[in-house]
This record gives sequence, C-alpha cells and structure tokens, in this order.
Amino acid sequence: MAKRDYYEVLGVSKSASAQEIKKAYRKLAIKYHPDKNPDDKTAEEKFKEAAEAYEILSDEQKRARYDRYGHAGVSGNAGGGGFSGSGMTMEDIFRQFGDIFGDGGSPFDSFFGGAGRGQGARPRGQRGSNLRIKVALSLEEIAKGVTKKIKVKKHITCDTCGGNGAKDASSVTTCKTCGGSGFVRQVKNTFLGQMQTTVSCPTCNGSGQQVTASCSKCKGDGRVYQEETIELEIPAGVEEGMQLSLRGKGNAGMKGGPAGDLLINIEEKPHEFLQRDGMNLIHELYLNFADAALGTSVEVPTIDGRVKIKIPSGTQSGKIFRLKGKGLPSVQAYGQGDQLIHVNVWTPKKLNDKEKALLEQMRQMPNFQPNPGKSDKGFFEKMRDYFK
Ligand SMILES: [Zn+2]
Ligand SMILES: [Zn+2]
Repeated sequence: MAKRDYYEVLGVSKSASAQEIKKAYRKLAIKYHPDKNPDDKTAEEKFKEAAEAYEILSDEQKRARYDRYGHAGVSGNAGGGGFSGSGMTMEDIFRQFGDIFGDGGSPFDSFFGGAGRGQGARPRGQRGSNLRIKVALSLEEIAKGVTKKIKVKKHITCDTCGGNGAKDASSVTTCKTCGGSGFVRQVKNTFLGQMQTTVSCPTCNGSGQQVTASCSKCKGDGRVYQEETIELEIPAGVEEGMQLSLRGKGNAGMKGGPAGDLLINIEEKPHEFLQRDGMNLIHELYLNFADAALGTSVEVPTIDGRVKIKIPSGTQSGKIFRLKGKGLPSVQAYGQGDQLIHVNVWTPKKLNDKEKALLEQMRQMPNFQPNPGKSDKGFFEKMRDYFK
C-alpha cells in the first residue's frame, strides 16, 4: 500500500510551523488513542500513522529531507539511526512521544499518564533498565566522527532459554489470570466518565505465560549479566556533556521484556595545541618580537595537519588570524567552524649582555615608541568583530 503524504496525515500545510505540527499530532493522538478505541485496529493504524508522520515532521532535518526526497529520503537508515517508519510499536510511540500528552494542560493528561499506556504493547515482561557509559574523545575524533568499540557489563538475553526463563518448552504454561493475553482490563472512573483501560497482567508481568520450571543458566530471569562489546557510532561535532542514546541497547528486560536504552555521555580529552570554543578551535601562537615586527611565515597545527600562515610585518600581540572552515562541524550537520589563531608576542624573560646592549640601542628609537592608531583595536573590539 502506498504511503500517505505526512502533511496530509496530520492535516497541515507544507509550510506549517513546528507548533502547528505538534498541535495537529496531539489532536490525532488523542482521537485515535488506544485507550479510547480499545480493540479497534483501524484506530491503532491511524495512531501509528500519525506518530510516524510526527516523527519525521517534528525533526527539522528529517523534515527537510522528506520535503526534498519524499518517503525515500526518510526510510530505513536515512533517518540517521534510531527507529524510523513503519517499524514502530505502540511502546516505541509512547516512549518517544509520550510527552506530547504531558504539556499544555490537556484534560487527558492525568488520564493518559496512568496505566492505560500499557494497551497495545506486546505482551512481554518487565523492561530492562537504561545503561549509562562515558566515552572520552579526542578533538580529532570529534572533528571526523568515530566508531568506538566499548566493552560494557550488562544484562543480556539468556541464550539458553531465549529470554523466557523456562527450563524447556514443557515448563511453559498459559497464564491463568489473563488467559495468555498478558493484559487484564480495568474500569477507571475519570471526570470524563467511566473509561475502560487495560493494564499489564500482574501475575505474569505481561508475558502471558507462567513458567513451572526455571532455566538453569539464568535461574528464570531470562537474562544473564556479562561483558559485551558494543560498537558506537559517534557523529562528528559532539561536545562535552552531550548525551546520546541508543534505544534498546541497554540492559535486557526480565523474562523477555524489552531492553532499556544505552545512554552515552560524551567527554572531551584536552588537546595539546588547540582549545575548543563551540565550533571554533583556538590556537595560541607565540611569536618573537623580531618576527612580529619584520613579518615571517610560520607553521601552525590544525585539526588535520600543519598549515603555513603568513605573518605580516607590524603584527601586534592580540591579533587574531582566522583559518576558515578549519574548525569543527556542527553536530546538526550544518556548517563548519573556523580555527582562530591568537597572536602573543613573546617578551624575553632572560637576556645576555649582547641582547641587553642591542635592546638598549633600540629603546630610544622613534619607531619603537608605542603609538596605537585607529586600526589597532583593543581586545574587546577584536572579540566583538569575531563573534558578530
Ligand atoms: Zn535462561
Ligand atoms: Zn497473565
């Protein structure tokens, strides 16, 4: 079946603002919410369709790609990781967009915040917890993006029982409380009237099954704790304090429940010659007084090798040279910073007799007397020039 246009799905124009898109999605999500439409497959499909459209149109980059290339531009891996398109389960939708119900004071807030969210989720066990790791990166790695292999200790699905925690097939029986559906129905009184909701079965934790004999390897948990190597693809341009998350790569759930997320906290290793300022890189260049006065050319380090730059005669301490595009890329994939070279004219700290004699001669010479003109801007003026 051909996919419908995402703008059409949400009923908004192609030029709709982020706010309009959010509003439209919220309206549809409430209308087709599974709690209001129990066992209605059409409503569930509409609910998923709206979530998919919202996933794309609420993301500036994905929306731009969709506008340009249509569905082909945002399907599969083109979405840049995470989930995309039709693979979404109800659980995914609530996890990703659950907050749509939580802001703006909808009368449904308290209602949707409740256990009703369980409806539509696959009958499974308890979700695994999130796993947090730190990754320290060099500026070079940040500049290009990097794939890291990291060893982590975590709960993984038991391979002996496949996660259900049972000794063998004969030790699994259908749960008597829920009859195998994993859900039990509850009637709730809300100010909108009586609403029927479904919650995870308390007996089997939503798995729909009861285990009479436990797996010997995982003792019935359905998961074991062990070291695993995870491959992380870190995009270029990340910075200290940023958190990336990989959905479903955290700890495995209990008894076949969904896995938690892997949360990656980015740390920056200090660089020998470069300092980061947002997307720009700053290099402190020290010049001797003669080079600054006479002019010269020097090699400076950049993030991808050394480059030669010309120092004009009469260069003042505090001067900033700019190497365009030699900074870091934006993590949003738009734009590239510059490298700024900050000139420091070096004053000798120790002098021998010959040096002293030469400087004594120069001390009184007319061109050695400070005489700043209009073009010799002060520090703050220079900084303003560079950041405006
Ligand atoms: Zn097991
Ligand atoms: Zn049950």
